[in-house]
Amino acid sequence: MSYEVTATRRRPQHFEDLIGQEFVAETLKNSITSGQIAHAYLFSGPRGCGKTSTARILAKALNCEKGPTPSPCGTCAHCLEITKGSSLDVIEIDGASNTSVNDVRQIKDEVMFPPNSSRYKIYIIDEVHMLSTSAFNALLKTIEEPPPYVVFIFATTELQKVPATIKSRCQQFNFRLVPVEKVKNLLADAAKELGIQADDEALYWIARESTGSIRDAYTLFDQVAAFSDGHITYEKIRDKLGLVGVDRLNELFEKCAAGKPDDALNVLDSYLQSGISIEQLISNSANYIRSLLLIKNGITKESLLGNAAERYSADVIKTWNAIQIERALSIFLQLYRDVRYSLSPRYELELAFSRLCWLSQYVSPAEVKAAVDSAHALLSGAAAAPQPKPAGTPHQSVSNAAGANDAAAPETTRQEVQQTADDQQDVSSAAQSTSSGIPH
Ligand SMILES: [Zn+2]
Repeated sequence: MSYEVTATRRRPQHFEDLIGQEFVAETLKNSITSGQIAHAYLFSGPRGCGKTSTARILAKALNCEKGPTPSPCGTCAHCLEITKGSSLDVIEIDGASNTSVNDVRQIKDEVMFPPNSSRYKIYIIDEVHMLSTSAFNALLKTIEEPPPYVVFIFATTELQKVPATIKSRCQQFNFRLVPVEKVKNLLADAAKELGIQADDEALYWIARESTGSIRDAYTLFDQVAAFSDGHITYEKIRDKLGLVGVDRLNELFEKCAAGKPDDALNVLDSYLQSGISIEQLISNSANYIRSLLLIKNGITKESLLGNAAERYSADVIKTWNAIQIERALSIFLQLYRDVRYSLSPRYELELAFSRLCWLSQYVSPAEVKAAVDSAHALLSGAAAAPQPKPAGTPHQSVSNAAGANDAAAPETTRQEVQQTADDQQDVSSAAQSTSSGIPH
């Protein structure tokens, strides 16, 4: 049997298989059941999250011999043809390579002919935002008044580039990124199907790397399965792909937390000598620090951390407070941005780890302000404290002082008024001198 990639082998064939897009699936099923079939659908969302799969399931639901039905049989001639991609009445067009107005005109002409053998003639146009403006305009007329047997399904990763005139004529569905936990479960199923053993830690890593795209997750899974020899472990992935695992990061960060720059820089050197790339180390360190921050805030879900919380060094977590860990994360995120323009990426990395060795002394601006405020309060409190007073009649002296102020205030005002009057005098005399200078 020929080898089939996991993403193709496990492509969803029913609405129920659409993991992470349950809302879309339910809404489509309901509209088919109630016979409210739109003439144009617009699917938007990130890549690899099921838009094209949903479009094909919808096509089957509409054209199945037993349909229109929310549960296409998958075995009739129409269903089989759509699954194979050979149905004459389900036309898939890649918007990225058919962007011109002529391509759309061709669609307009074809639309006039009824379907060959199916109930509906269905156009699935992927990456529809790539069409040119004139192509969109040509398309607009067709989707405004389509023949009753035509259904358009548009898919796009960039909804904001689709003209409002098109959007308003489509039934819109927003697809979401699939949560890490769900991607991991899908990978576990895929491994079981292939008879491959797979550790949770490894599958979580693949799921997180693919950032919510099931297709990317399956592709990476195939790659990892190919070198894993029947058992996928995080250690194998780490060694093969040159990652820096939690254990090694624990060792490095413990030196920093202990305030030993010499040890930290030696460990760092040994990692770089072993062939780990600087970018990889920066990115893995940033991930590691993020996990520390989550743990510090009481979050221990493995799907978020990527590893079990117990795997992270207790010493490091205990030594640094949340503000210091935030600081460490910002150092590494900044480093990731800076390193490509750097004179020496290695120096930058060493500088970052050297800074981490001083991190336990780091005080945030907010803490400095709080300290200054409390010192200020202390000092002004001392100033407000009762001063030793000269013997005599304190009340008298206070009222005297107030009286003196009262007298002084009108004096000031009078002076100011006088000053203003003088200014006006100057202006008017200047005006006079000017007017006298003008010849009549
Ligand atoms: Zn069928």
